[in-house]
This record gives sequence, structure tokens and C-alpha cells, in this order.
Amino acid sequence: MSILEKIDKLDRAIAWRGDMPITSRYTAGIAGERFFREIKDHARFLGTRCEACGLTYVPPTMFCERCFAQLDDWVEVSSVGTVFTYTVLHLDLDEKPLAEPDILAYVKLDGSDGGLVHRLGEVSPDQVEIGMRVEAVFKPEDEREGSILDIEYFRAVGS
Ligand SMILES: [Zn+2]
Repeated sequence: MSILEKIDKLDRAIAWRGDMPITSRYTAGIAGERFFREIKDHARFLGTRCEACGLTYVPPTMFCERCFAQLDDWVEVSSVGTVFTYTVLHLDLDEKPLAEPDILAYVKLDGSDGGLVHRLGEVSPDQVEIGMRVEAVFKPEDEREGSILDIEYFRAVGS
């Protein structure tokens, strides 16, 4: 049976069980590598700037998505931002109830035209508002690995 044929009777479907020895390595790319290294080494966010379009990309990109210019103007952006939108999770990925709801937000970072999706912490769902000011809470330096999880969460500014 070719891949283009359709199975019209489910009892004709055959499944093979077993393991496939596949190894893969994914990278964050040139811009992502620099972005995560800065988080790991200095607990700071970097973006790339397109002067022609007046845009600062976070996460950084190597090319402007508007004018396609190569971007090599790296700028530090704030670890403080604004909750642009959020959602409250009550179930885990296996649809089991969470002991405490998880709050995920898109945080637009000051000094950029982008932002990050991450958890909100030190706040209950009924206290979260679109527009609230939040800051990144980074793990201690010796625990950071160059991952988005080097940010523990965002919390209300001044918490
Ligand atoms: Zn541009």
C-alpha cells in the first residue's frame, strides 16, 4: 500500500511496534545561542535592532522580518515588562488537575517590540491583570544552564 492510498477498513491497518535508533541535535541558532548565553552568564536579555524599521526584536532574530535586512545591532533590553495577555492552567499535560493553577503570560519587554511567554509567580490568578508590570526572576548564576528555564518566572515589579 502506498502512502497515498486510504484505508477504508480499519482492520487493514497494520502497526509495527519497536524502537527506532534516531539521535538528533537541535540548536537555538546563532541569535538564540547568543540570547541564551547572555541569560546564563549575565541574567540579561538581548535583542537585535533594525534602525530602518525602528524595531527591536526579542527574542533576537538575524534578519528583520519587515525589510529582510541582516541584523547585527545587538542591544540589551529590560528584564521588566508588561503582561500583554495571560491564561490560567488548571490541568497538566496529562489533563490531571494541578495542585496550584499555573499562570502563563506573554510579557512584552520594555525597550523592545517583542517579549517572552513564561510563567507568572508570587501572584494568584485573581490578582493578574493585563497591563500589570512584571520583572524576570532569574535562577542563581550557578544554576543557570542557558535555557528559558533560567528564568524562574516573572513577578509583579516590587514584589
Ligand atoms: Zn527592518
